[in-house]
Amino acid sequence: MKKWTELVQFDPSPNDPFRANSTPIYQTATFAQEIDELNAYDYTRSGNPTRDVVQQQIAKLEKGQQGFVFNSGMAALTSLMGLLEQGDHVIASRDLYGGTHRLLSQRLPQRGITYTLVDTTDIAAVAAVFLPTTRLLLIETPSNPLQKISDIQKLGTLAHENKAYFAVDNTFLSPWLQKPLLLGADIVIHSATKHLGGHSDITAGVIVVKDPKIAEKIAFIQNAEGTALAPFECWLLLRGLKTLGLRIERQQQIATDIANYLKQHDFIKKVYYPGLIDHPHHDLHFYQARGAGTVISFETGSLELSKNIIRRVQLFTLSVSFGSLNSLINLPCAMSHASIPIELRELPADLIRLSIGIEDAEDLISDLGQALQFSAMNNVAIA
Ligand SMILES: *Cc1c(COP(=O)(O)O)cnc(C)c1O
Repeated sequence: MKKWTELVQFDPSPNDPFRANSTPIYQTATFAQEIDELNAYDYTRSGNPTRDVVQQQIAKLEKGQQGFVFNSGMAALTSLMGLLEQGDHVIASRDLYGGTHRLLSQRLPQRGITYTLVDTTDIAAVAAVFLPTTRLLLIETPSNPLQKISDIQKLGTLAHENKAYFAVDNTFLSPWLQKPLLLGADIVIHSATKHLGGHSDITAGVIVVKDPKIAEKIAFIQNAEGTALAPFECWLLLRGLKTLGLRIERQQQIATDIANYLKQHDFIKKVYYPGLIDHPHHDLHFYQARGAGTVISFETGSLELSKNIIRRVQLFTLSVSFGSLNSLINLPCAMSHASIPIELRELPADLIRLSIGIEDAEDLISDLGQALQFSAMNNVAIA
């Protein structure tokens, strides 16, 4: 099946006697048993038919063997870390999602697991930090919010030469734009709170794997730790997935228009978007992904100017997260990435991140235009 077809063509209700065309929500904790026959389901923590449909669907979209859904992206990442044992070592991208950094720095040490952060755009630098105990290499590409691109294929080869798992957090682009398992990743992670759910109405997380042995371990962890996504949330996630392509194609088109607008604007110092032809890793990005995504970051050169822009915009809600239907604006240093200690953040304080929704590009551009104009005038007045 091709990409648009597979979003909506799947069995919505396996074994359902009424052949429901929308997946039934099995809102039940328990299932009746037979004394001498095994029922496919017994307890929702261990398995639920609504969850199985969405897990199969996401595994199919990521070209994996098996999918798992969790009650948040962080629960998915925590389950990934469950593959590790005391004494193991992790290598991860330097500009990681703040919550992932917190997990590495404040939860893993208690389990006797160490980690090293490295610029994963630099293959030699990554090669240099492998230890005999390294079991996992975890990256995000593009990174958030600076949109640095790491080479998925080369890093996969490097991880496997060192007998480590290679995991890619694919939240930023979703399988609609990038399929890391096809490029050598063993494990794909998502915060499904973002593009996969797509409506800012659930928190959810995903793991997809290729290898049945890893799948078995993740299934054990999901059941043992009780972090699977609840049936109603599974249903909302499944509904969101059906429009993944429609949403992302539109959001990306508008993001491209806005990136080009910001790029030529006099009051903007620097724009970060892999779709811009002068992005330093433009070619690598388009070798491994189909599109540039829906998030743009930019610097104004002044924290005060950035704050004024955020105060002045009307169509961009000041909010963390991305991948929702309405556009959002965020000051990463103060918001989404505040949990990373300042000395490690390496983010310009004036950096603004835009998450583009499905509004009219003209409206968004004129809103940014008036906010930039007003704030720049104000800034001059203050100076
Ligand atoms: C949001 C996010 C997470 C965490 O997911 P939650 O659903 O908020 O727990 C992990 N990785 C990335 C890249 C994210 O953007």
